[in-house]
Formats: sequence, structure tokens, C-alpha cells
Amino acid sequence: MSLVACQRDARLRALDCVALSWSPLDDGRYAVILDDTVLYPEGGGQPADHGRINGVAVVDVQRGQSGVVHTVLGPGAPGPVRVELDWARRFDHMQQHSAQHLLTALAADHLDRPTVAFHLGEETCTIDLLGPPLDEAARARLEDLANAEIRSARPLRVREVDAQTYDRLPVRSRGLPEGHTGPIRLVEIEGLDLNTCGGTHVAHTGELQVVALLRVEALKGGSRLHYLAGDRVRRRLAEALQREAALTALLTAPPDTHADGWPACWPMPRPTPRPARPPSESWPRCWAPLWPPAPAGPATCTARALIWASCRPSPTPP
Ligand SMILES: [Zn+2]
Repeated sequence: MSLVACQRDARLRALDCVALSWSPLDDGRYAVILDDTVLYPEGGGQPADHGRINGVAVVDVQRGQSGVVHTVLGPGAPGPVRVELDWARRFDHMQQHSAQHLLTALAADHLDRPTVAFHLGEETCTIDLLGPPLDEAARARLEDLANAEIRSARPLRVREVDAQTYDRLPVRSRGLPEGHTGPIRLVEIEGLDLNTCGGTHVAHTGELQVVALLRVEALKGGSRLHYLAGDRVRRRLAEALQREAALTALLTAPPDTHADGWPACWPMPRPTPRPARPPSESWPRCWAPLWPPAPAGPATCTARALIWASCRPSPTPP
């Protein structure tokens, strides 16, 4: 299937084109087929764009048999239309998708962990890597490598090649849609990576701003890397700081002591006497987690502190 305008120019935010049809759907929404579009249809792991057609909200875009189908929330008519892109949502997708290409290349080249799958989620993104699970040192190294490449601002380029040229090029991932014919679209991170891809990408790695590798989840035969790029990192940091401030107020203790556990981080006196017998009907319900007494440790102690905090108005335990 031929490329649409947003695949030829990922920075294009609006386009005058022609609505070939504008048809009602059973669910009250409408399906609009255009002769071209700046809205990326879901595919290759990248979610669909949102935007507007003649001011009517577009909530989904998919490739269909007869062209790219835009699901919109209101009626309209075939003819000339103005299509506008929700640029903030698209740029976020471009950052997450380009970060995936970068992390995949670095994990393969430096850690010998080829990528077998990835997912660009609404909240976080994941890459599934083959091989022994990444340990903390490998996770930190990969994060350092990715952010060093961001500082070097390597250009990303999109081009199309014919099948003969494609066969000669050192393309890392050779995944093509079933039955693909015609030119093959490649995305290159200069000097680092060359991949088949239909998605939209940032202009250079500097536009990723920052990449954070949140955690590694062990999988059978590999590991799942959870990551964020760009503004998502700033938003996650803001949420974490809010939680930190709330915990600081709750524990009346500075952040660097939050994980110290009971009693160092908690000014309330240790509940005495400690529960001497199992919880009963007469006990405040919040005391139940304190029985049986668990071995002391930072997590246990912090949990106890939070439980105790929620119990403060409760009567002294029996
Ligand atoms: Zn891609």
C-alpha cells in the first residue's frame, strides 16, 4: 500500500485533501476515507493518530481495503476537507518509537540481546529482549548508552529502496508485511541502525530529550524492558515528586529516610504493648496486618508505619 503524507513528512501537521466518503457506522460514529492524510494509521507497533477533519474529532485511523479509514465523531460530506493533526500526541509517539529503535540497536550491539517484540503503550513502553535477563548493571549501562546517543544528536532518516538495493543493505530487522510488493521503507539512525519501518520518527536522537529504563521484568528465555522517553519522563518525575512530598508529610521525615523503615523514619512511638494474641472481632481492623509479627525489614517497617498512621485515631490496642 502506498505511503500517506505523514509517512513522507512526519512534521506535516495539516493538509487540504478530499473526502471520498463519509459514512455512518452502527455505533453512532462515522467512517471517513480521504485521498491522502496527515494522520498516521495504526501499524508497525505505533498507535493511531488523533486529530480533526473539518473540525470533527478523529478518534481512530486504520488501513482498510479501500484506503485509510478515519473514525470520526460527527457527520460530514464528501468533498474538500482540512485535516489537522493532534501534534502533541503524535510527537509523543515519535519519541517513544524512535527510542525503541535506539534501545533495540544498543541492546543488540553492546549487550548481545536482540529484540523480539515491543509495545508502545499509553503509559509505558516495553521491549522484549532475547537472552539471559538483564541485571541492574546491564540496565544502567543501556540507559547510559542511550542518553549518550541523545546528547550526540544523531540524525534519523527515512528512505525507500527497491528490493535489489534492500538485499544488499545491512538492514537489522527485515520484517515486512505479508505480501508486500514495491518499494521498501527504511529508517536509519546515522551510523547506528538501519531498519524496515513504516512509522513516524524524530529528526535526530536529541529530540528524544531523555530515556529512562524503569525496570526489567524476567521472561521465559529473555527479559522485558520497561522504558519511557521524552516528556513522559518529565511527567513521571513530577508524579514521583508529588508522592514523595505526600510521604514526607505523612512520615514527617525527609525523603532520604523514607526507606529506612521503623522506627528511624517514624516519629510515632512503637505501638506498645505489641499484639499479644491473634486479631479478634474486637480489634480495630487496621491492626490485623500486624499479626503475626513479621521479621523487621525496611519494607515491613515502612508498611507498619503507614498502617499505624492510618490507625492513629483508633483506641489503644488491647
Ligand atoms: Zn519502527
